[in-house]
Amino acid sequence: MTDRFTLDRRAAIAGATLFTAAAVRSAAAQGRPAIDAQTALIVVDVQNDFCPGGRLAVPKGDEVVAVCNAIGRRFQNVVFTQDWHPEGHSSFASSHTGKKPFDVWPDHCTWDSAGAEFHDSLDIPHAQTIVRKGYRKEVDSYSGFLEADRKTTTGLGGYLKERGVSRAVVVGLATDFCVNWTAQDAAKAGLETYVVEEACRAIDLGGSLDKAWADMAALGVKRIKVADLG
Ligand SMILES: [Zn+2]
Repeated sequence: MTDRFTLDRRAAIAGATLFTAAAVRSAAAQGRPAIDAQTALIVVDVQNDFCPGGRLAVPKGDEVVAVCNAIGRRFQNVVFTQDWHPEGHSSFASSHTGKKPFDVWPDHCTWDSAGAEFHDSLDIPHAQTIVRKGYRKEVDSYSGFLEADRKTTTGLGGYLKERGVSRAVVVGLATDFCVNWTAQDAAKAGLETYVVEEACRAIDLGGSLDKAWADMAALGVKRIKVADLG
């Protein structure tokens, strides 16, 4: 049955679709992401061990929490990644005699430890998925998509694809390691990818931060500010 109400409704839906498509084009043209059902916020490793007082503290890492909370409210789709290692993990300094921390890493984010928990103040209750990574003893993982052997997938790429997500906004810790690798893999997976500068903090070892931004840019990852989220 086609009545006046149905026709009005169709016109409204068509209008809304046109408006949405125009808004998405306009946002992309200005180098900022549209925030809609096709966009996911990926919050990388905002865990106690990566914050001041933690076992692999990123300087000022806790400063990302309030920024993530504020912008998290605006995304329908939110994914957390969580570094999640067994005792004796291959990335740990304690697993390698003769190597010092930062040749490998200080032991961190071990299963069920307080350090592996998300920061107490991280408050994005509508986050739908937690992707754990690095839980195989012999394989490390910086990226939320693909572990460090560059073969083992976490399933995040498939999850986002099935959810119809085509755009990723990446935030968290640390800019030059897990955020960097996650953003690069998001771009390689075909997602339009953004990193929000103020919502990340870096370790910055030997120029690693500059290199990370350059490597991300080379893959088309856009570096944006919170203000660019509109
Ligand atoms: Zn780790």
